[in-house]
Amino acid sequence: MTPSYTLAVSPPPADAILPPATIGIIGGGQLGRMLAMAARAMGYRIAIVDPDPDCPSASVADELIVGGYDDEGAALRLAEMSAVVTYELEHVAAAVGRAAAAIRPLRPSLRALEVTQDRLAERRFLEGAGAGVAPWREVRTRAELEAAAPALGWPLRLKAAIGGYDGRSQVRIAGPGDLEPAWRELERSAAAAGLLLEQELDFACELSVVVARGLDGRAVPFAVGRNRHDAGILFETLVPAPAPVTAAIAARAQELADHLADSLDVVGTLTVELFLLADGELVVNELAPRVHNSGHWTIEGAATSQFEQHVRAICGLPLGDPAAHGAAAMINLLGSGERRPAQLAGVAAALDDPGVHLHLYDKRHVFERRKMGHLTVLGVTPEDALERAVRARDLLRWS
Ligand code: ATP
Ligand code: MG
Repeated sequence: MTPSYTLAVSPPPADAILPPATIGIIGGGQLGRMLAMAARAMGYRIAIVDPDPDCPSASVADELIVGGYDDEGAALRLAEMSAVVTYELEHVAAAVGRAAAAIRPLRPSLRALEVTQDRLAERRFLEGAGAGVAPWREVRTRAELEAAAPALGWPLRLKAAIGGYDGRSQVRIAGPGDLEPAWRELERSAAAAGLLLEQELDFACELSVVVARGLDGRAVPFAVGRNRHDAGILFETLVPAPAPVTAAIAARAQELADHLADSLDVVGTLTVELFLLADGELVVNELAPRVHNSGHWTIEGAATSQFEQHVRAICGLPLGDPAAHGAAAMINLLGSGERRPAQLAGVAAALDDPGVHLHLYDKRHVFERRKMGHLTVLGVTPEDALERAVRARDLLRWS
């Protein structure tokens, strides 16, 4: 495909990639959109690959290449028109990452992509790096599942090694009676890339840390957030992470994130999702070598947003100040009901509180539990910010 107009193309530079160079992003969902908006604010140009011509990034990209996350040709075209290539999701075929990395810097890195897209590879990496993980086994056959389950103890989670997100492609196994339906549900994933079977942990709370690591190897973490999920989908992040998270626990989580970013040699952001156990132990649930839903509060809540920080890192620029302005709450706006054109009612009423910040991702259709946008409120305490965010959300509905 010939670009409709000429984008700034520079040869792979030795150090900083400066505006108006083009940043290539694989994936045009809401993360790509907010990344593109931050990059555009800094004067960069944006090229995106996404299978959907109406994806959330379409209206903010200079160039949109319609292609799948397994389309090596599309990735190559993207790389050709970009000075650096990044990705907004880790479910990009490794071959696509390799195609881009062959001709341009791929950041955070090809290795980070390969390790984090496969839950089994990720577990091995985490153990190698000395991070705590839930007791787990690799499962490829039904016999392996039946042998591993009682050995680990109930309840369990069975997860497809490749392809799951927002709680999809994973099943809870409460006891022996759930083994048969769980196997039937994930049998095809088992044959394709294997399954991860792990203990379900009775955690005190969930945390996450977004850390950015520059080209010089310096890692800069954002404040730790306390997350709540509903059936696998994030619905709330509070910063600073309230009880039972102490400052000492938060500092340990940040140190762990810095260490993992170093171990994976990432250039860009890395998100570490953690469980805090009752005894204070931190266990890593999963890694994402990218900006993350739990870091959206940084747009208004930190001196530098996670999106700007990622852009600075992948372009070889000095990192920004990650300091939080104070307390913040971020809640997701999920879709409800049947699939239909997206129209949000109640916006003016919700914004009547001047501290409420609305973000919508320009998704053309709404359906049950689809991530459509989010709200952020800064407050004196995270609980006070949350209360105001919930009040605003309750005034919104998909008509
Ligand atoms: P996302 O895309 O939102 O990160 P995902 O599909 O990658 O989700 P996980 O992060 O593995 O899935 O799991 C989603 C949520 O399910 C977790 O945040 C946690 O609330 C719960 N969960 C997953 N694994 C476990 C476990 N071993 N013990 C307890 N809870 C778990
Ligand atoms: Mg997760």
